[in-house]
Amino acid sequence: MVSFKSLSLTTRIVIGMFAGILIGAIIQFGFPDNNFVKEYIVEGLFFVGGKVFVNSLKMLVVPLVFVSLICGTCSLSDPSKLGRLGGKSILLYLATTAIAITTAITLALVIAPGEGQDLVSDATFAAKEAPSLSQVLVNIMPSNPIESMAKGNMLQIIMFALLFGIAISLSGESGKRIADFFNDLNVVVMKLVVILMNLAPYGVFFLMAKLFSEIELSTIGNLLKYFLVVLLALFIHALVTYPVILKLLSGLNPVIFIRKMRDAALFAFSTASSNATIPVTLETATKKMGVHNNVASFTVPLGATINMDGTAIMQGVATVFIAQIYGVDLNINDYLMVILTATLASVGTAGVPGVGLIMLAMVLQQVGLPVEGIALIMGVDRLLDMTRTAVNVTGDTMVTCIVAKSEKELDIEVYRNPWAGHKDERL
Ligand code: ASP
Repeated sequence: MVSFKSLSLTTRIVIGMFAGILIGAIIQFGFPDNNFVKEYIVEGLFFVGGKVFVNSLKMLVVPLVFVSLICGTCSLSDPSKLGRLGGKSILLYLATTAIAITTAITLALVIAPGEGQDLVSDATFAAKEAPSLSQVLVNIMPSNPIESMAKGNMLQIIMFALLFGIAISLSGESGKRIADFFNDLNVVVMKLVVILMNLAPYGVFFLMAKLFSEIELSTIGNLLKYFLVVLLALFIHALVTYPVILKLLSGLNPVIFIRKMRDAALFAFSTASSNATIPVTLETATKKMGVHNNVASFTVPLGATINMDGTAIMQGVATVFIAQIYGVDLNINDYLMVILTATLASVGTAGVPGVGLIMLAMVLQQVGLPVEGIALIMGVDRLLDMTRTAVNVTGDTMVTCIVAKSEKELDIEVYRNPWAGHKDERL
């Protein structure tokens, strides 16, 4: 008999996921009105277990990004490289998002998920104020780095760590001592990531069991077409667009890439948060894909913050869907506006569950569609949120690989080795 522990981490997470879905479904259909189950198992055990797991991942994000980015910056032989890294990755992040939303709009226009539907919804949606672009830009420079860390403001933390790293590399002997300290700290923090990743099968089990014991799958019935169009666009983007871009821009084998993305995608799927997945994405990029830390430590957290291809896909399909339901005709200028706004909105979307819907309000307002339309699709958003987060994270890693390859910061032996990083996942 093989023991659970001897299985690979991916297999263990998948088992945890399906066991959770099964138990959740049994509770939903077998014990619909059982107060004990609801109170002690679903809201008790599952809630606590899932929350503790997600919190443990989030706990690592700030120290990990800060420490590894400092290590990355001070190991850069040529600080001017930073500008190039930043330029390339931001350009690629924006371009892939624009492609994503264009695919989504095209598919939605062809399949027309909202035609002939007569949905009435009594749910209401109060749009939260979306930050303006100038505010997003001003906010990049932290006025108080400790506050940025306390609040988990990723762009500010990135900014501070970059400046700190540059200062270290310019500080001679003292800088070298500090750099050694941060390098050691990085090893320790990465070990902590591995420890927590090994708890993932249980954490994922709790998250799935809670979700599936409560989720109203019947709402999917009404919105089936919308749901399927978003899923289809997400799959096309992840399994066709990304492989083509990766091959064209870096020459790397896309099959290896997709295979190595499994763990990070599973984490993203179960947590619905690119931010909480940063530790795993960083581990995947460095240990499995062979990207050097000086690139990955910068591009991964940046991507988790500003690159949301999956979210943009949902927004594209949702906009067309809502326009069709309300019988509003959008013209080509409106669609261009949607592409532009959704691409910029993704810069301001935080990598946490559900924000994509809030930013959708900004896109709808731009083209004069009723924001209440969001209430229609809210019911099925959780499952889509999980799937689009997996796409968001895949996009971050792909851009990371392309940029690293172009900067000669990718170890091709590691990339090609199917077992790379597996040993590091064990405790
Ligand atoms: N949950 C997504 C993420 O963290 C953002 C969203 O689409 O709501 O990447």
